[in-house]
Amino acid sequence: MSEATSEKHAFQAEIQQLLDLVVHSLYTDREIFLRELISNASDAMEKLRHVEATEKDVHDAGLPLRVEITADKEAGTLTIQDHGIGMTHDELVENLGTIAHSGTKAFLQAMKESGKSPETMIGQFGVGFYSAFMVADEVKVFTRSWRKDGEGLVWTSDGASGYEIEPAEGVARGTKIVLKLKEDQKEYAEEYRVKHLVETYSNFVGFPVMIDGKRVNEVEALWLKNKSEISDEEYKEFYKFQAKAFDEPQYRLHFSADAPLEINALVFVPSENPERMGFGKVDPGVALYCKKVLIDPEPKGLLPDWMRFLKGVIDSADLPLNISRETMQDSALVRKIGTVISKRVLKMFDKEAEADPEKWRGFYKKFDRYFKEGVATDFANKEALAKLLRFESSMTEAGELTGLKDYLSRAKDGQEEIYYIVGSSREQIEASPYLEAFKSRGLEVIYFTDAVDEYVADSLAEFDGKKLRSIAKGGVDLEDAEVEGEALSEDETKALCEFLKSEFGDKVTKVEAGKRLVDSPVVALVPEDAMTPQMRAMMKAMDENFSDEVKVELEINPRNELIKRLASAKDGNPELAKLVAGQLLDNALMAAGLLEDARDTVRRMNELMSKALG
Ligand code: ADP
Ligand code: MG
Repeated sequence: MSEATSEKHAFQAEIQQLLDLVVHSLYTDREIFLRELISNASDAMEKLRHVEATEKDVHDAGLPLRVEITADKEAGTLTIQDHGIGMTHDELVENLGTIAHSGTKAFLQAMKESGKSPETMIGQFGVGFYSAFMVADEVKVFTRSWRKDGEGLVWTSDGASGYEIEPAEGVARGTKIVLKLKEDQKEYAEEYRVKHLVETYSNFVGFPVMIDGKRVNEVEALWLKNKSEISDEEYKEFYKFQAKAFDEPQYRLHFSADAPLEINALVFVPSENPERMGFGKVDPGVALYCKKVLIDPEPKGLLPDWMRFLKGVIDSADLPLNISRETMQDSALVRKIGTVISKRVLKMFDKEAEADPEKWRGFYKKFDRYFKEGVATDFANKEALAKLLRFESSMTEAGELTGLKDYLSRAKDGQEEIYYIVGSSREQIEASPYLEAFKSRGLEVIYFTDAVDEYVADSLAEFDGKKLRSIAKGGVDLEDAEVEGEALSEDETKALCEFLKSEFGDKVTKVEAGKRLVDSPVVALVPEDAMTPQMRAMMKAMDENFSDEVKVELEINPRNELIKRLASAKDGNPELAKLVAGQLLDNALMAAGLLEDARDTVRRMNELMSKALG
């Protein structure tokens, strides 16, 4: 960059779009701009503390770490200053001119995808630094990086087309933001108004916040305080501040231990799930501190990955302050801390789910994917996670959820297995022939209807010593049940089975009379080790050459009217019997989700129809 000259930049297109929204559409909640700027100042100072602990050469070392706010009524300006890490020239361009950082990006994406109005969206996201333009005509950012080779700079913008960067004299390390307030926003140059905002939104900033030289906030690391001294309100405020959240926490865990490790943790469970809004995977949100100094705001590998939706703080006095983010993951101590807290979190979930099942189900509906992911990936916590899973079953109403513990409490005496079926929806499952035998015997069947459920069932394999068993697969042993209705004789049944087997040849492994069916004529059972239709669909989506032929076992129902007629038709009218047999197999495959090519089916159907019409 050339010395002592000003340099004009245009905003990136997305920023332009965002600013346009900020300036023209967002009329509510303007006051959050202060929270955003204070939060940025606090972030910059936390980063500085970390830099000071790990680097030798810090410019202007020893400056006080606090947020200084100055309201100038005469001039109609509001100034927010910190002595945090500051920004270099390139960082200014990157951080305030492009959309590389997460919060703003998420906001724009959500706007696009939800089709909701920006007013309703801002409440959920905030727009970070750019919210300054909700109240200011012009924003100046004076900044000086902590790096020795940094320089004093000023960034100026009217929030319209672009910004300008110029060298500036006498800038202390850190950042000073000067807002020239809009004509109708001059209230933010009033000390009492600003004070009220700080008390409302920024009470828990971990640094003193000064307004015109007077300290306003209570600086406290809430997680180090005694539980009995903290009100629900304070917890909520802290959550919103720390997680930069706009929702309310759903659950929380406040945990302290002195031995064997000194740990203080305050973990929050949000009520909104960002990944559900189509943002992709979020970063872990429980920050790691050592004696109030932030070590890593998004520590990977501290808690199991599936817990990434949690927010909050884990503080351990036993951690070395200068532990780097790279070595963190290899640290046995960090792993230990993670294990202790994740066990506590699961215990908390379990307690909450017991205490208020209704609330848990509501929460689970939004966050189920994390728990399912956990079952498949977090081996150490599989049992505890399994208890938390919820699903519909043949004994719940549509939309109602139940759990494995409840399932077992309803199980029949001597029932050794947990039955489930995978399908695309409750309706599809209930229309399939598989359920009949279980319904008639009063056996509960879990309905797995989420695309990942099959994988979850496979990973889980068993619960409380009982195996999970797919009822669409062979090998399920059911007790004899009282069956109603006149059946084919044993000889007739055997002859029919032989006829069918010779008709179907290699397409089926065997044809047998079964105990499962009550109403339907036939059911196709998939071999125990075969993929389910869902899994096959996924494999096909990934590999177009994927093909595996599944050979099914066909069970016929000797009490079914159609089967009885087929038995006599095979001698009296073999040609028609063959057509009907072929169609029965296709119907069974269809119900199993295994019919891949329907061309033969259609041809046969047409033939059958023309025969039926004579
Ligand atoms: P976010 O805080 O979510 O990253 P913002 O829009 O609030 O998004 O800020 C954008 C970026 O600008 C920050 O990530 C940070 O790098 C930089 N920034 C903003 N304010 C300051 C500040 N006071 N000191 C240093 N850097 C800052
Ligand atoms: Mg911010």
